Amino acid sequence: MSDSVISPSLFGPRVRMAPSPTGLFHVGSARTALFNYLYARKTGGKFILRIEDTDKQRSKKEYEQNIIDSLKWLGLKWDEGPEVGGEYGPYYQSQRLDIYEKYLKQLLAEDKAYYCFCSLEELKAQELEMLIQGLPPKYSGRCRDLDKSLVEQYLAEGKQPVIRLKMPNSTLKFEDVIRGEIKTDLSLIGDIIIAKGLREPLYNFSVVIDDYLMKITHVIRGEDHISNTPKQIIIQEALGFPRPIYAHLPLILGLDRSKLSKRHGPVSVIEYQKMGYLPEALVNFLALLGWHLSTDEELLSLEELIQKFSLERIQKSGAIFNIKKLDWFNSQYLRKMNLDEVVARAKEYLETYSNFGEFLKQRPSDYLKKVLSVELPRITKFSDLIETSDFFFQEEIIYSQELLIWHNATPQDTIKSLQKALGIIESIPENEFQQANLQIKFFTYINDEPTYQNDKGKLLWPLRVALSGKQASPSPFEIAEVLGKQETIKRIKKAIELIEKNGVAKN
Ligand code: GLU
Repeated sequence: MSDSVISPSLFGPRVRMAPSPTGLFHVGSARTALFNYLYARKTGGKFILRIEDTDKQRSKKEYEQNIIDSLKWLGLKWDEGPEVGGEYGPYYQSQRLDIYEKYLKQLLAEDKAYYCFCSLEELKAQELEMLIQGLPPKYSGRCRDLDKSLVEQYLAEGKQPVIRLKMPNSTLKFEDVIRGEIKTDLSLIGDIIIAKGLREPLYNFSVVIDDYLMKITHVIRGEDHISNTPKQIIIQEALGFPRPIYAHLPLILGLDRSKLSKRHGPVSVIEYQKMGYLPEALVNFLALLGWHLSTDEELLSLEELIQKFSLERIQKSGAIFNIKKLDWFNSQYLRKMNLDEVVARAKEYLETYSNFGEFLKQRPSDYLKKVLSVELPRITKFSDLIETSDFFFQEEIIYSQELLIWHNATPQDTIKSLQKALGIIESIPENEFQQANLQIKFFTYINDEPTYQNDKGKLLWPLRVALSGKQASPSPFEIAEVLGKQETIKRIKKAIELIEKNGVAKN
């Protein structure tokens, strides 16, 4: 069989990503796409995107768009496929039905495939019979040798048959680049259904036709497809097609080592986009799900990944998806990135995924940069800005009076502290309203003031809460500088009013 294996040198490698638009694009599919992409770029080959939308019930346009958007967001550009076209299109299976029909007819004419009219009940009864005989259940082959005239008659009567492939009873061997030789006893499989009708090919059949016509040299896909490969090889052989090179990628597992699923947390690329991860960080993280270098090197740009990637370094064992690790990558990328670039990305993110866009438009153009220079060391991803730094993006901040009160201080003490803070703030000219000056002014006062000398929290806690409304936040000086003098004064006054309005009952 080896002489019919495709030699990549004939065309240069051609690899494909062939997602079905039946759900949001999964991080596992993104990993498959990435490995295909890296291999193509590394070898100077072509990366093809093919939409496998033959399942009419489950395929949806919105999922198709989601695949395209997710790949674009990750920066994985395809050379042929939707939007860009190519020599071997169409790249949507739903537009290739004539092609599949032609090959189905060929197999039927050559007696390599046949119409099967067995009903569901009959199939169940056949399987039961086999189980009783202690045999593994499979299709009995009842319609394999139906008389041609009977087939014609059934078809004329309008019976709806499926099309089955005559499977050999031999053992099939194939070589997987990652897993080595894989053997399958075909006698256990039985004659598989390759189409529900001439216009309804099933996955194993259409994939073989497309991979052949699109001149795919390497099939790089998830390990969950490993049981399909022998069936696809038999279809190829029936049609006289060469065999591509196979590489089945290890499963992606959750922390509990079971297959990654929604149970473990978000699994679609768009959810990570919405959480404000950087695509560069997600790509780097995904690249290491099942592949690594011999060194400890982990932070690798897409360019570096391309240079260093090889199929040989892909592992067999499952790869653990640890979101903490992704957080680490994201923090590293955020810190490494030029601040102006981070600001531009954060702006786009907040405009798309938060209600703060309008507020930001009213602020000076460098406002977000100031916020980020304070918040960047504290966040791992942009959604943290929405959750923990919302006070920078809202006119009205809401918090409870209790939060303003430091330990055993009374509401009255708190008002006094806030008034003192207000006095200090008001004394600082606008052009000196910077973190360092604020800090000096406050600490000079604290050091001379017995009330606060041993308990500076009594002064600084209510000030910080007045500005942020949060249990935890950057220091009041950092916040004040970003907010500016007027907004700082406004917020302190509001805090004083809040306590006064509630009555200073606890006094
Ligand atoms: N449409 C299949 C899927 O989404 C493609 C499998 C393959 O790569 O052959 O799983």
